[in-house]
Amino acid sequence: MIPPSFEYLNPSQISEAIAMLQKHGEEAKILAGGHSLIPAMRLRLSEPNYLIDINGIEGLDYIREDGGQIRIGALTRETELEESEVIQEKYPLLLDTVKMIADPSVRNLATVGGNLAHGDPGNDHPATMLALRAVVEVEGPNGSREICIDDFFPDFFTTALEPDEILTEIRIPSPPPGSGGAYLKIERKVGDYAAAAVACQLNIDSTGTIQDIGIGLTNVGSIPIRASSTEELLKGKNPNDNMIEEAGRLSAADSEPMDDLRGSAEYKRALVDELTQRAIKLSLQRAEGSR
Ligand code: FAD
Repeated sequence: MIPPSFEYLNPSQISEAIAMLQKHGEEAKILAGGHSLIPAMRLRLSEPNYLIDINGIEGLDYIREDGGQIRIGALTRETELEESEVIQEKYPLLLDTVKMIADPSVRNLATVGGNLAHGDPGNDHPATMLALRAVVEVEGPNGSREICIDDFFPDFFTTALEPDEILTEIRIPSPPPGSGGAYLKIERKVGDYAAAAVACQLNIDSTGTIQDIGIGLTNVGSIPIRASSTEELLKGKNPNDNMIEEAGRLSAADSEPMDDLRGSAEYKRALVDELTQRAIKLSLQRAEGSR
């Protein structure tokens, strides 16, 4: 279908874009990569009267290590993340994730900020950012504020962004030595959204004891889910096979999938169980290798 008509706005400053959001309120939408918004408009699931294209705003597209964290500008394309040397060297979880998103032509335009701001529990970055304990920075009429990723997805296709705010940056703590991560996803066909996926990030000391662990689950609930029970089980432990099996069961219990075209709830829980175990094992291997 053809989208309904809209007015196209093309600001060159963030302040200008925010003023436009203030003026037009709920009738306006930010346009980033357009790979979620335009399909939604074509299906008439979204009918904004104003599209505010932020692609002309300079300085929203970067990947920088700075002060013990990596800072990713909201307009950074998935391809740029995939090709970044620092991501390839130090952030295996992010690298795994970006490679599983759609296909190269989508990744050339789709942005990391848009992937989060869309609030889709089927998108891959939200669970990964939960595991990485990211913080997002947003800007609005009263300046900027930080939102912890755990508070960013309050409900189905809903984010903590106010209607007049723009997501500007994602910040992830730099992993200490002995860190490893992995993202494992089962999809019906290449490029599809997940039937289920699991993100794991952990850090071990010289004895192999897990000092910190984050586990996020994709597309098995109305919002991206932190598998808190699994994290609590494994933190401070030197896990054996039995414990990792228990971790899989706990993640499955933390998930809240529904029957749909991608499979039954029971099948998706089984996927979460298995993928959790595999993601933990791969993360441990990578953590050993990073010391
Ligand atoms: P847009 O489509 O431009 O925007 C999406 C929403 O976020 C809109 O509501 C917009 O107003 C808002 N928004 C965007 N940026 C900002 C910002 N900086 N501040 C405030 N609001 C903002 N994604 C996956 O994760 N995994 C997949 O496997 C996957 N498969 C796909 C397959 C296909 C064929 C397609 C077309 C898309 C797929 N996607 C997938 C989605 C893709 O990654 C999207 O591009 C992404 O989710 C949204 O990013 P975008 O930059 O295109 O945002």
